[in-house]
Amino acid sequence: MNTTASLTPTTETPATTFADLGLSAHLLEALAAEGYSVPTPIQIRAVPPLLAGRDLIGCAQTGTGKTAAFALPLIQRMRADNQRAAARRCRALVLAPTRELAGQIHQGFLAYGRFAGITAAVIYGGVSQRPQAAAMQRGVDVLIATPGRLVDLVGQRLVDLRSVEYLVLDEADRMLDMGFIHAIRRIVAMLPTDRQTLLFSATVPAEVRELAQDFLRNPLEVKTAAQATPAETVTPSVWFVPKRDKKAKLVELLRDKAMGRVIVFTRTKHGADKLHRDLDKAGIAAAAIHGNKSQNHRERALAAFKSPRPPVLIATDIAARGIDVDHVSHVVNYELPHEPETYIHRIGRTGRAGQTGEAVSFCDHEERPRLAAIERLLRRQIPQLNVPPHAADGGEERSIEAAAGRRPSGAGRSRSGQPSRGPSRQQGSGQRGGQRSGQRSGQRGSPRGAPREVSAPAPAAVATTAASKLPRKKHRRAL
Ligand code: AMP
Repeated sequence: MNTTASLTPTTETPATTFADLGLSAHLLEALAAEGYSVPTPIQIRAVPPLLAGRDLIGCAQTGTGKTAAFALPLIQRMRADNQRAAARRCRALVLAPTRELAGQIHQGFLAYGRFAGITAAVIYGGVSQRPQAAAMQRGVDVLIATPGRLVDLVGQRLVDLRSVEYLVLDEADRMLDMGFIHAIRRIVAMLPTDRQTLLFSATVPAEVRELAQDFLRNPLEVKTAAQATPAETVTPSVWFVPKRDKKAKLVELLRDKAMGRVIVFTRTKHGADKLHRDLDKAGIAAAAIHGNKSQNHRERALAAFKSPRPPVLIATDIAARGIDVDHVSHVVNYELPHEPETYIHRIGRTGRAGQTGEAVSFCDHEERPRLAAIERLLRRQIPQLNVPPHAADGGEERSIEAAAGRRPSGAGRSRSGQPSRGPSRQQGSGQRGGQRSGQRSGQRGSPRGAPREVSAPAPAAVATTAASKLPRKKHRRAL
């Protein structure tokens, strides 16, 4: 079994088709209509045990096809006994951290269940509850909800959870991060204990495992990638940029034509708004989404982002969680996240559905410990792609390089060793000789001369492998 998380058909199970997984004709028809020809690794591994009624922990990243992995077997099991939910009740409950993700799961159930006659409703905060309550009035097969609003509606007796037979906790790590633990525990306490429970999470830290122990019975654990491994289709890099220069650096970067569909992550809502104004001033079309933006605003921003001429999307982590847009060419971490796992979630926004993508992280002096934590989690170094101009004239970065007792590396180069396009070409021109003389992009020394953490596989090898996989022109064509 190929345990790599991607939508690329697994070569080790060439004979596996959706029919081999035991899915019914109605579902096969829907999958054909969706244009899915082969199941993804998580689908291959999760569907048969779920059809057999097992509880399951799925350690799967975004973009691996995990929605179908749980939706397909649940639809089939619900159709098998042809029961219908009573008024205000549902048979399957899916909890998700954000309204965007809840909306996408809802769409997934409707698409996969369209020939099976599945009914589904979605509930999330930030919009009027009236249509949501109305959708629940007659009862539905599947209810997808964010925890807070669901607790609200249950409290008002507009939703009744006493007939739930199937529970899915999607992106469990994120739900815990967002402080939903109490709401989740309240909800689960209202459910029948005799149910099938599924938990999906990109990472399985101790808190998630504890949740699984409390809510799941003898679960099967299915992993599609080593825990905390980003999709192989994403090429990561880090750019050391002093904080004061980040804005200018980003503007330069975004002016590069190859930056097709770009998500820029900031840590705070305030930071996202500020960056939005800065990009506006620089004449770069951008849109921001975060928790303080109205649902309408978010939908408009996402629609524009999906258009052929997308603005740069500036997002905070929580708001970005449900973004499912193909052909995202670049993710830029304008600021590194506090939680190393968040890095993996962020960069999972690109390289989806078997496509390739690039994840560029800006790292300033204060963020070095965060970078180290991310690299520890990844168990490898993130290749460095550039050295800012200040390195040559006494800036913050030079002292870092000097302390490490090495020449700046990777300047103006892509990971293939070719000069990269755009800003780094201008900025790195003075250092190309150093690059040519054998320093490859991954050979970054320790920040401030400290010994580097583990590096397996060797960074240079990472950089080379990644380069061979990166059809740069494809981004332009795809857009
Ligand atoms: P998910 O991980 O559920 O967010 O899915 C990521 C993307 O992959 C979505 O756009 C799905 O429509 C798509 N997808 C899911 N399963 C398959 C499949 N077997 N073949 C092709 N695309 C798929």
